[in-house]
Amino acid sequence: MSAVSAPTPPLLEARHVSKEYPVGAGLTLRRRREVVHAVTDVSITVGAGEVFGLVGESGCGKSTLSRLMVALERPSSGEVRIDGINLSEIGGRRLRALRRDFQLMFQDPDASLDPRMRVGASVAEPLAAQRIGTRRERAATVARLLDEVGLSRDVAERFPHELSGGQRQRVGLARALSLQPRLIVADEPVSALDVSVQAQVINLLRETQVQHGLTYVVISHDLAVIHYLADRIGVMYLGVLVEVGPADRIYAAPAHPYTAGLVETIPRPAPAGQRGRRQAAIRGELPSPVNPPSGCRFRTRCPSAQDRCAVEVPQLREFGAGHTAACHFPLYPAAAGAAPSGSLSGV
Ligand code: ADP
Ligand code: MG
Repeated sequence: MSAVSAPTPPLLEARHVSKEYPVGAGLTLRRRREVVHAVTDVSITVGAGEVFGLVGESGCGKSTLSRLMVALERPSSGEVRIDGINLSEIGGRRLRALRRDFQLMFQDPDASLDPRMRVGASVAEPLAAQRIGTRRERAATVARLLDEVGLSRDVAERFPHELSGGQRQRVGLARALSLQPRLIVADEPVSALDVSVQAQVINLLRETQVQHGLTYVVISHDLAVIHYLADRIGVMYLGVLVEVGPADRIYAAPAHPYTAGLVETIPRPAPAGQRGRRQAAIRGELPSPVNPPSGCRFRTRCPSAQDRCAVEVPQLREFGAGHTAACHFPLYPAAAGAAPSGSLSGV
């Protein structure tokens, strides 16, 4: 299987990463010890300065992978490397020092903001924890960060509950930026926000990424959000990576039936007077990650599935420059540049 290569030297690399969680231990049925296959054999490379988008339905393993990427958890197997350093091989001081370079931003800013702490103290907390600057210098940094995320400075004196969801997510970003990280992993950064506020926060994420030359991994169940933000997109289904490629390519000429289904659920501009509708393009429910389907995990919901899909795990194959998909019966033939003419513009 060929690794997915990024255009720039990799800052972040996941190599055959899997994560299993034990479930049901000691429950009434006394079954054999079962595990949730949250992430299975995922390899991803993210270049410095790149925005990599990760998309897939709720429960497909995106948050688990994000925690592995910032070393909040360790993989059951495989490796996560930052600058080539295997995070499982270092510990203590070195890991703490490296952690300054990567920050996780959550869907729910409430989870990362202490409700009893004033906003200014929350934003300054990572600096204080690392003993960076005097109290006064930290206050100046907080003021600058609040400016940068479009909040007025007096917000520093308020408590999280006094702010709107959009303002809290701006505070979350200010906090994530405080240690001048190189990598920000943003897990569903706009999913908890009203649609009207989402665009503002998305634009802010883009601006800060460009301004600081940051590397982002942005995670969302919403392909429209990911397509807008990301240079490259990885599509996950039930713990596995099914397709990776340049964002426009994934959006306009997906090779995997699951990705095509995701694209179809994006509302299109409707003729005047009609409402844009989201179609339920992917039938059925997500199977249990405790007993994922054999072969291709998507086969139970796939319109193109055949017998082979139940027995053979599809490997990622090339569908164009930097574009790979794992499917036995893709929407067009594999091999470099094999997209039928017109498929790029025809969607
Ligand atoms: P997503 O972020 O894409 O919604 P998650 O990574 O949160 O997906 O979850 C993937 C799967 O792993 C789900 O079935 C979830 O229930 C399970 N899972 C996640 N974290 C844990 C955990 N700590 N213990 C047990 N199961 C977990
Ligand atoms: Mg999640």
